[in-house]
Amino acid sequence: MNKADFPILNETVHGRPLVYLDNAATSQKPQQVLDAIVEAYSRWNSNIHRGVHHLSQVATSKHEGARQAVADFINARSADEIVFTKGTTDSLNALAFSFGEAFIHEGDEIIVSGLEHHSNIVPWQMLCERKKAVLRHIPLREDLSLNLEAFKGLLSEKTKLVSVAHVSNVLGTIQPVEEIIRLAHARKIPVCIDGAQSVPHMRVDVQALDCDFLVFSGHKMYAPTGIGVLYGKREWLEQIPPHEGGGEMIDHVRWSGTTYNELPYKFEAGTPNFVGSYALHKAIEYIESIGWEAIEAHERELTEYCEKRLRELEGVNVYGAGHKKAGVISFNIAAIHPFDVGTLLDQQGVAVRTGHHCAEPLIDTMGVPGTVRVSFGLYNDKEDVDAFIEALQRAQRMLT
Ligand code: PMP
Repeated sequence: MNKADFPILNETVHGRPLVYLDNAATSQKPQQVLDAIVEAYSRWNSNIHRGVHHLSQVATSKHEGARQAVADFINARSADEIVFTKGTTDSLNALAFSFGEAFIHEGDEIIVSGLEHHSNIVPWQMLCERKKAVLRHIPLREDLSLNLEAFKGLLSEKTKLVSVAHVSNVLGTIQPVEEIIRLAHARKIPVCIDGAQSVPHMRVDVQALDCDFLVFSGHKMYAPTGIGVLYGKREWLEQIPPHEGGGEMIDHVRWSGTTYNELPYKFEAGTPNFVGSYALHKAIEYIESIGWEAIEAHERELTEYCEKRLRELEGVNVYGAGHKKAGVISFNIAAIHPFDVGTLLDQQGVAVRTGHHCAEPLIDTMGVPGTVRVSFGLYNDKEDVDAFIEALQRAQRMLT
């Protein structure tokens, strides 16, 4: 599907055609997005919001147009609920600080899950340390699914926020976020969804989900690095203070004190990444030109095909096998270190990721040194899977 739009996919690696299966780490960029970056710097680069001159007004309208496009993309009620950030990690750190300042006190509790990426753990740990609060996590069942019975038991008067991944970046499994949100909201507890691995692969509708916050990164959804999103319901964003001070986020600055700008600008101190937001807009247009139905069907078929082929191989253990997944598969080959598998695949031009995938608590629970992870983008096809399986079989023969 649309491989020709992605120039990097014509590269060779170690003399072999590149088979890029590391999309959960970062996706490749279509020509339309690359062109947008060149267009921005060659035609209208200028600092936004502050200028009366033409270029500044063009740049401002591109940036604000991108904000509206993101709002429409995730079906936010208003563009004011879209804060541009550097990425998921930045969004989560901002939220942990700002939400923490307003709502977290000694003895309060925050709940994450046992399969989170470090960026949905560490900012909350830092907040808990600062406020003498407690971080709890939803334990996993034997089959690595979230134990929702245990989650119910964790919810209490002390719980002030729940923050969970929509899709596990290690297992690819789609988490029961609707149920988590329902249970938390029954106690009026807000929920943050880490959409880093879901927003690039499926339609995420914040009003249908009714999540209070959603965070995601541009670079995993065909846009450049350095641009991401913190969505928050207006009523929450209005109640929490800014996490950074500087230009743009202020209303007035006096020696006697500062008043803050309105939403969403109070969370965007300094010159924002307006080229990144424009390129993100183009990435959204690219995704929409193909359509979610086609993308979801294609990636589902590819993931199922790859998982089936992997399970046919002797000694291969696929984690979370049989669960509904979004473009990510983790596995190990008995008695072989994942790093060795990854290295031999690389020598054959196949890019996969190995290790703990920034989710050490989950990897510890699984009791393995790490996994080999293949992850798909919309441009991958069955030939990529076949090339990967062939390279894997060759690696397996060399290592056993
Ligand atoms: N959460 C999840 C589930 C992720 O997969 C990632 C990226 N691997 C992140 C958070 C962090 O994203 P970023 O590095 O773009 O800030």
